[in-house]
Amino acid sequence: MRWNTYSEYLRRKYGMRVFRIGVDASFSCPNRTKERKGGCAFCDGTGSVAVYQRSGEGGFHHDSAYDRGVAESTISYDVDLKNQIEKGKRFLKRRYGAEAYSLYFQSFTNTYGSIGYLKKVYDEALGYGPFKELIISTRPDCIDDEKLSLIAGYKEKGVDVEIELGLQSANDDTLRYINRGHDTACYVEAARKIKEWGIFLSTHVILGLPGEGRDDYIRSAEVTSLYSDAVKIHNLNIAGGTRFADEYAAGKISLLSLDEYLDAIEVFLACLRPDVIIQRLISETPAHRLIAPRDFPDKSKFISLLEKKMESDGLWEGSFYEKT
Ligand code: SF4
Repeated sequence: MRWNTYSEYLRRKYGMRVFRIGVDASFSCPNRTKERKGGCAFCDGTGSVAVYQRSGEGGFHHDSAYDRGVAESTISYDVDLKNQIEKGKRFLKRRYGAEAYSLYFQSFTNTYGSIGYLKKVYDEALGYGPFKELIISTRPDCIDDEKLSLIAGYKEKGVDVEIELGLQSANDDTLRYINRGHDTACYVEAARKIKEWGIFLSTHVILGLPGEGRDDYIRSAEVTSLYSDAVKIHNLNIAGGTRFADEYAAGKISLLSLDEYLDAIEVFLACLRPDVIIQRLISETPAHRLIAPRDFPDKSKFISLLEKKMESDGLWEGSFYEKT
């Protein structure tokens, strides 16, 4: 491939395929409070609950999208971590023949709690292992040295540790517009601290946010390259029950076409530090919650289109890195 694939990284590191078990430990998000006006403009309040953890998922009610209550009333999931992990193992084993797992605190902000509560939850879930990795998804404004010390400490227990951190864009005007509740400097400081504690860092970015273009993608690649070991790249998806759904319906925002997104991701990858692992290239919002885009291909077809495009343009991940 023309970029560093995550599957190859895992195979090299562990000598086998390793599968993530995504769990929802009932954390909330500091950005979804009334004071913060209900969270990121693209957030539909599901907190990215893993597909095998959901049941009874219904539609989203537009007027109640701005608090977590909507997710809890429309998605039911097993709050028992042991059951979630067992369910995840059964699903991954049945579907992929999985034999090795990582524990992935996936939903909402998984460092949003007291240090005592975080330790209790992480310890309990790790006890249902064995796991190769402990992966914790969170926000830049929700970590500090005490929490990072706790997380880094799990390495001594034989588990690799990773934090997934949302940046989304390195343009502060965009971050304000999407109501992220933090700026680029906050992300950079959090990323620096994470690396100081020797924790693997994966950064989330979205390409195609309203008002953004090539210069913004280059800037996001530069900022991601500062400290990240890996990146998850998303095309902007409009999900039901979000502020963006309103703005899209009113014609105030538009989305990148497939060709435009291929251009955007190519320039992002070319400007990225060449050793960054690529964990994701396209969003995968479940079809029943996705308003737009509805005409993108599935992941494997998209990867083959991107590979062909980069080949014909003579570009690789990191091709322009020196120049940036
Ligand atoms: S940080 Fe995540 S959970 Fe919180 S509002 Fe933004 S997208 Fe939603």
